[in-house]
Amino acid sequence: VLHEVTEIDRGGQRVRVRSDEERWEPFDELLIATGALPLRPDLPGLDGPGVYGAHTLSEAGELFEALERDRPSRAVVVGGGYIGLEMAEAFRRRGLHVSLVDQARQVMGTLDPDMGVLVADALERIGVELYLEEGLKAVESEGGRARAVITGNRTLAADVVVLGLGVRPNVALAEGAKIPLGESGAISVDERMRTEAEGIWAAGDCVETFHRVSRKPFHVALGTVANRQGRVAGINLGGGAATFPGVVGTAVSKICELEVARTGLQEKELRELGWEFETARIESRTRAHYFPGSGKITVKILWEKRSGRLVGGQIVGVEGAAKRIDVLALAVTLGLTAQDLVDMDLSYAPPFSPVWDPVQTAARTALR
Ligand SMILES: Cc1cc2nc3c(=O)[nH]c(=O)nc-3n(C[C@H](O)[C@H](O)[C@H](O)COP(=O)(O)OP(=O)(O)OC[C@H]3O[C@@H](n4cnc5c(N)ncnc54)[C@H](O)[C@@H]3O)c2cc1C
Repeated sequence: VLHEVTEIDRGGQRVRVRSDEERWEPFDELLIATGALPLRPDLPGLDGPGVYGAHTLSEAGELFEALERDRPSRAVVVGGGYIGLEMAEAFRRRGLHVSLVDQARQVMGTLDPDMGVLVADALERIGVELYLEEGLKAVESEGGRARAVITGNRTLAADVVVLGLGVRPNVALAEGAKIPLGESGAISVDERMRTEAEGIWAAGDCVETFHRVSRKPFHVALGTVANRQGRVAGINLGGGAATFPGVVGTAVSKICELEVARTGLQEKELRELGWEFETARIESRTRAHYFPGSGKITVKILWEKRSGRLVGGQIVGVEGAAKRIDVLALAVTLGLTAQDLVDMDLSYAPPFSPVWDPVQTAARTALR
């Protein structure tokens, strides 16, 4: 730790390392796992006091200390992805007044709009003010503290500002060594996690992967994917044989009282691919309707019209909702149809689901 690699010398099979001093370190095989970097647009005031990222533990620590020390009362979160939304909720739970700004039309852009709106409603119910379709223009500070966030439409008072604007693959080292990148801008690797440079491997947020539904190159920054890729690279580096077949875009998070999950392709992506598709969306319960703790769950499935195979699923609901996405992730991975889902022998007892699991109810609606 506290050693930064500043250069890869491919021909010399060595890396330049900077810590207290600088030295060259030789390698036989090299694995690049440099992760991702938070997006920071070149706008006035973003490096100013009172503006925080939420990317590393040390950033979170600094923010936490500032909250304890300065007791701010107004927070503005910029970015309505899962990290921004989790931060907005956390600020509300600490009693701050919270505004959330996003240039998009909806929060949680990885969901279709009809599912994203459920998440927006939950945020508004706990008092988060949403300012959508408003781009960030600048952050103003005064006397060593944040003062306001300027959007395209208004000025929002702010004592503390958090940026959750997404990430990009951290590829500077690879680029410096002329290791080829893919079309997403992440490092290009094969199924064994080998880059196109002899003896150099890569895994995690810095690499491009393959989307098993769209059959296209894809970049995703998730710990699930990074872990599995790391394992594959490690097995291969250790002399074994393993492959990483790609992803279907499964992700899950918890926003307020809602569990939010998605897999496969969403409507926007399907339209971009030019695929004909249909959707079904149902409301059901997480447990038998009479069982204590039973709550609402909304399930949406998307299938390709031509073949009938499932190509996507989204779930929003109370406790017990989210992990049902794993059944849909499996269905999407295997190219199953709604009929296959209906025929599946899924479990039931009142504490866990209605007799028909909500994912099967969605499949029945699809068949109708
Ligand atoms: C707030 C937050 C919440 C998240 N929640 C989830 C979640 O719920 N589920 C999920 O699946 N994923 C989640 N993720 C994503 C997950 O953390 C990442 O996908 C995962 O950590 C990627 O692993 P990695 O090893 O590729 O990169 P990282 O974990 O980012 O590790 C990269 C490491 O490389 C080091 N490094 C970079 N450049 C150099 C260099 N030149 N020399 C030496 N060292 C270098 C960095 O310091 C870092 O330690 C979350 C991320 C954030 C920020």
